[in-house]
Amino acid sequence: MSKLKVAELFYSIQGEGRYMGVPSVFLRVFGCNFKCAGFGMPQGELSEETDDIANIVHMFNDYKELPLVSTGCDSYASWDPRFKHLSPVIDTDSVALAIVDTLPHKEWRDEHLVITGGEPLLGWQRAYPDLLEHPVMAGLKEITFETNGTQRLSDEFKSYLFKWAKKSKREITFSVSAKLPCSGERWEDAIRPDIVGQYEWFGTAYLKFVVATEQDLKDAERAVEEYRRAGFTGHVYVMPVGGVERVYTLNNRAVAEMAMRKGWRYSDRLQVPLFKNEWGT
Ligand code: SF4
Repeated sequence: MSKLKVAELFYSIQGEGRYMGVPSVFLRVFGCNFKCAGFGMPQGELSEETDDIANIVHMFNDYKELPLVSTGCDSYASWDPRFKHLSPVIDTDSVALAIVDTLPHKEWRDEHLVITGGEPLLGWQRAYPDLLEHPVMAGLKEITFETNGTQRLSDEFKSYLFKWAKKSKREITFSVSAKLPCSGERWEDAIRPDIVGQYEWFGTAYLKFVVATEQDLKDAERAVEEYRRAGFTGHVYVMPVGGVERVYTLNNRAVAEMAMRKGWRYSDRLQVPLFKNEWGT
């Protein structure tokens, strides 16, 4: 039986992108190929906020007790090896049962499953078929993979997704949060139109850029041009930076105005005003 290293599993409202407002189960798996330490930092500087937390990690017994950060990756504990002991390895049968147990009626009705991370399309692709084939997952109709758009789908996983999506009224979405230079990641590593085009074969794929400044908007325009040149047809969203309310409220309106100017979609981060972006929301 396959296993997953699970950072978080919770039921909430999807706060971002296409399914904003939809009750959703979030399965956050461990591991990422990026660090995104540039978020919220002056250009060229990298956040060291998580180093301070790592120094006192022995004080935390549970992922939910960890402090929130205002710079760098706001889900740092889902990939930083210094926090890996807080993410247990669990067999897919147990994960499937735990997922359904979070639902209000203990069965799928109109809820949606979000598989997120970290980067959920790293090696875990091999475990998802076992998870999704568990009998308690039969009523699930909609899945979103929240990805940074840098991971190719394996041939085995592609065949599985085709089969899964063919069953009636099932829908797969790839929410591609491609990382601009403000993340601190290198352009050539983060902007991968050759890979993202592949996601459109299975359903809906869209781009979602975290922006704060006019420079970020210019970078997003350049990235969109590259994706379009490669044949990508999906929607484009821009979303304000800000894992904490004080940062988010500084730039959400400006980002909405940027979206209107460009004719792109605005994505909120509803989990910030609704739930203060606490772990488990
Ligand atoms: S890609 Fe996402 S999970 Fe990975 S470091 Fe960047 S923001 Fe964090």
